[in-house]
Amino acid sequence: MSKDMMPHFELFQPDSEETALDLLSRFGDEGWPVAGGHDSLSWFKDRAKYAANVVDLTGIASMRGIREVDGGIEIGALTTLTEIENNDIVQSRYGLLAQAAGHVASPQIRNVGTLGGNLNQDARCWYYRYGVDCYRAGGNTCYADTPEGQNREHCLWGADRCVAVSPSDVAPAMVALDATMIVRSASGTREVAAEDYFIGPDIDIERMTVLEPGELLTAVRIPGDWANAQFYFEKVADRNTWDFPLVNIASAMVVENGTISRIRIAAGAVQCTPRRLTVVEEVVTGSAPDEETAALAGQAAVRGATPLNFNHFKIPLLENLVKRAIRDA
Ligand SMILES: Cc1cc2nc3c(=O)[nH]c(=O)nc-3n(C[C@H](O)[C@H](O)[C@H](O)COP(=O)(O)OP(=O)(O)OC[C@H]3O[C@@H](n4cnc5c(N)ncnc54)[C@H](O)[C@@H]3O)c2cc1C
Repeated sequence: MSKDMMPHFELFQPDSEETALDLLSRFGDEGWPVAGGHDSLSWFKDRAKYAANVVDLTGIASMRGIREVDGGIEIGALTTLTEIENNDIVQSRYGLLAQAAGHVASPQIRNVGTLGGNLNQDARCWYYRYGVDCYRAGGNTCYADTPEGQNREHCLWGADRCVAVSPSDVAPAMVALDATMIVRSASGTREVAAEDYFIGPDIDIERMTVLEPGELLTAVRIPGDWANAQFYFEKVADRNTWDFPLVNIASAMVVENGTISRIRIAAGAVQCTPRRLTVVEEVVTGSAPDEETAALAGQAAVRGATPLNFNHFKIPLLENLVKRAIRDA
C-alpha cells in the first residue's frame, strides 16, 4: 500500500452552512466534510479511504464559538478542543467537558481538532485503519476477533461482527451532560440526543453516528440542568500523552442532603458507542456517595461484560473508574 501520498481530490471551501450543505447534498457518498483534518487526512494519506470531493468547513463562521442559550450553552461544531478546554463558561459550569476536551491527544492536536471532528471520528481499530477488507470496510472478516487478533483496545459490549470501540474522549462527557446534537442537511434541521447520536455495528456497521451523507453536525447544545453539578472525568491510556483511551469515564452528579439525587454516567472505549451506565445510575440514586455505594456501582457497571482474548483488563479498570466517579466526584 502506498502511504503518505494523498490521492487527488477536488477541494471546496464554502463560507456558509447553506453552501456546504448544498455541496454535500450534491455529492452524496462522493463528498467528505473536513474540519481540522486529523482523522480525514490520515485516511487519505493511508489511501485506505478516498473522497472525490472534499468540503473544507473551516471558513464557516456560524459553526464556531460558544454561546449561552436557554439557560445552557451551544458550541459550534468547528470550535476547537483547545477553545472548549479554556473557555470560561465551560470551565466554570461544565468542568466535565473542559476536562474531557483537555484529555484529547496533545496540545497541537487540540489546537486544530474540532468538536465536530472529535465526535464524528472513525474507529481506531488497527486492522480497519490499515485498510484491510474487514466487516466495517465492507468485507466479511473481523481480524481483531480471531484467536491471534490484537484486541486489547477493543470492546466489552456490543460486538456485532465488528469489535471496534468509540475512541472519543469528548463523547461520553456529552452523554453525561445530556447534550443535544444539532444536525443540518439541505432539506432541514433535526435534533438528536447525544445518547442516540452514536450507533453500533448492529445498526450500521459502516457508520459510527446517525449522520447520513449530506448531513452536518453544526452545533451541540448542553442544557442548564447539569451546570455546576459534581463532575468526574478520568481517562486511562497506555501513556499520558498523545494516546487514545483504553477506558474513560464521565459523570455528572447532584448530591442533596448527603444523598445522590440525580446522576448521568457514561464510559468510553468499552463499546462502539459511549456506554451510558443506566444500571449504575439506578443503583446509586438515593444513596450517599460513599465507599459502599461506590463498590456496588463498580460491580453493577461491569455486569454482562464479554471480554475478547486480550482485553480482560478493561473489566477491573472500568469497575475502578466507576467507583472513583461515585466516591471522589
Ligand atoms: C495522534 C492522534 C491522537 C489522538 N488522540 C485522541 C485522544 O486521545 N482522544 C480523542 O478523543 N481523540 C483523539 N484523536 C482524535 C482527534 O481528537 C480527532 O481526530 C480530532 O479531534 C478530529 O477533529 P478534526 O477536526 O481534526 O477532524 P476531521 O478529520 O476534520 O474530521 C473527522 C471526521 O468527522 C467528520 N466531521 C468533521 N466535522 C464534522 C461536522 N461538523 N459534521 C459532520 N461530520 C464532521 C469528518 O468528515 C471526518 O469523518 C487523536 C488523533 C490523532 C491523530
